[in-house]
Amino acid sequence: MLQLRTPKGDGEHSEPVGLKSEARDSSPSFAVLLRDPQIEMAHGAGGTATRRLVEGLFAPLLLHSPSEPLADAAHVAVNGTRIAVTTDSFVVSPLCFPGGSIGELAINGTINDLAVAGARPEAIVVTFVLEAGLATKILEAEVRAMAEAARRAGVQIVGGDTKVVEHGKADQMYVTTTGIGSPLPGVTIDPRLVQVGDKVLLSGCMGDHGITILLARGELDIQADLRSDTRSVFPLVDAMVRAAGPGIRWMRDPTRGGVATSLNELARDCSLGIHLFEPALPVRDAVRGACELLGLDPLHIANEGQFLAVVASKYAERALNALHQTPGGEEARVIGEIHEQPAAAVLVTTPYGGSRVVDMLVGDPLPRIC
Ligand code: MG
Repeated sequence: MLQLRTPKGDGEHSEPVGLKSEARDSSPSFAVLLRDPQIEMAHGAGGTATRRLVEGLFAPLLLHSPSEPLADAAHVAVNGTRIAVTTDSFVVSPLCFPGGSIGELAINGTINDLAVAGARPEAIVVTFVLEAGLATKILEAEVRAMAEAARRAGVQIVGGDTKVVEHGKADQMYVTTTGIGSPLPGVTIDPRLVQVGDKVLLSGCMGDHGITILLARGELDIQADLRSDTRSVFPLVDAMVRAAGPGIRWMRDPTRGGVATSLNELARDCSLGIHLFEPALPVRDAVRGACELLGLDPLHIANEGQFLAVVASKYAERALNALHQTPGGEEARVIGEIHEQPAAAVLVTTPYGGSRVVDMLVGDPLPRIC
């Protein structure tokens, strides 16, 4: 989930992200701009409707500094100690799918939001919303999956909460997590640091998670040997930060809305153009085939075990080498570059010299993907 960054130069007081009693209504940037008459599935898809909801309602009324760019985790100072904090919820359907399940996804997703904000995941609290009638053995399997994912990542689960709603008022189980991390030394993640000439790196193949979930629902007559990419990306981020920390400007895990949505948000936040080279985009044949059949763009499909990074040109080789030498980073590659134009947009060029602007995800082609 996107979190608010705390203001720059504001690191030494102990005020968490929260409400502050400034005269917001007098400032146009704090105005409630959401005009959608009701909430639709698209408001949860991570694309343009989600942005309207977050920026048009949540940020102006709830956030401490609504005009700051949104990030995967917020950095706050508590008694002079900086921490990163993130929260996320998981409503994926089905609960289990090739390569993972909701429990594993919840832990990995929380870890990844901290990692791409430049933080080492330290502790997680977990809330369950359970539907009455849920088989205990299903719940136990998911709790075991969470424990195992946390153990693998070296993260402690330190608390949580449980609510149960009547049968039919929820779909088996939903999970909400909050994660706390310690900022990694030697790296600052901020879209406003991105410069012309910087390289765009992607850690591996696009779209595996989203298409796996789609196929796991069994609504399409497509067979494919595909698994969700759910995993912790922290070891990859950590290796890259150690090798190229001063050159890393921005990171994001391209979950809902995919690589295109994450990069459009970056383009807007840095007011620069992002050029992607189509042949450099890593997509498995099964994902490409399913996307062609369904009229989807792999650039819009959710990932749960990949991350994007923008790295200063002179650090790009070092960053890439660090990823290649870390297990799970073998497929990392440079997929594009930052240009002056088109300002605040993402352009994909083909090997034949043509190009197309790729926007954020619009609508919700794949609901409840995470
Ligand atoms: Mg994220």
